[in-house]
Amino acid sequence: MTTESQLRADIVEVGRRMYARGYTASNDGNISVRLGSDRLLMTPKSVCKGFMTPDMMCITDLDGRKLQGDREPSSEMLMHLEVYRRRPDVAAVVHAHPPTATGFAVAGIPLDRAVLAEVLCTLGSIPIAEYATPSTQELPDAVAKYIKAHDGMLLANHGALTVGADLFGAYYKMETVEHFAKISLVARMLGRENLIAREEVLRLQELRGTYGIKAPAPICADETTSAADDPALCQVVQAPEGGGSRLVADPPSRGAETRARFGVASADGNAEIRLTYRELSELIEDAIRNLR
Ligand SMILES: [Zn+2]
Repeated sequence: MTTESQLRADIVEVGRRMYARGYTASNDGNISVRLGSDRLLMTPKSVCKGFMTPDMMCITDLDGRKLQGDREPSSEMLMHLEVYRRRPDVAAVVHAHPPTATGFAVAGIPLDRAVLAEVLCTLGSIPIAEYATPSTQELPDAVAKYIKAHDGMLLANHGALTVGADLFGAYYKMETVEHFAKISLVARMLGRENLIAREEVLRLQELRGTYGIKAPAPICADETTSAADDPALCQVVQAPEGGGSRLVADPPSRGAETRARFGVASADGNAEIRLTYRELSELIEDAIRNLR
């Protein structure tokens, strides 16, 4: 059992790392851990996570009543309490605003495409909890929908949330979410993603057991089944049927759309041409002159 003083030091260390990696700015973000069966150790309100000291932390009960500490508990305490109520297996909660993952949350694009084997084995899919006003009951309500089946999620127009069986486990998941978001962004800027086929996704899921990874819910065998409509039952992953292939090229319509946006040559070798408004006007004027 980790001692309270060690947990205080660990929260300081995780806060320092989050701030150093740019996952939080100013006083953003919050961290909590279970302290035995009936108490929580939590970062306080209005402090920069990069410059905390162990004595700053608050101790609360599972209803959020402050039991110890000179400062007030985190403004997002309600969201942390909701996670602990719904996930007895969770012992730590980390919330931050890592810029790339938060960009996906702002764009309304979940990180749920089957592209990285390691992410599929660990987090599975990373959905987006609906927009909620920060620090109100709306936020725990939005998180409640997905927390049964996910250890990591984006919060629409806000940030990201990860949970774990211990503090560093929850923090590493935050690293994975941001790392996955960066890789997804680069692949999409390059204009193409090869997706891992559904059959391979299910094979990867079996590796979770082999490696002793405890995922809160299985990946839906088929995203069209009714189980896939209930976010508490399984994780929805965008993975096409492979028909014997383990990788499937990005669906052409999506690929073409992305390529057109970034002006990249299309897969079949027909280059897309991008013109400015002025260039286009000149071309049209030239064509009209030739008509006369
Ligand atoms: Zn926040």
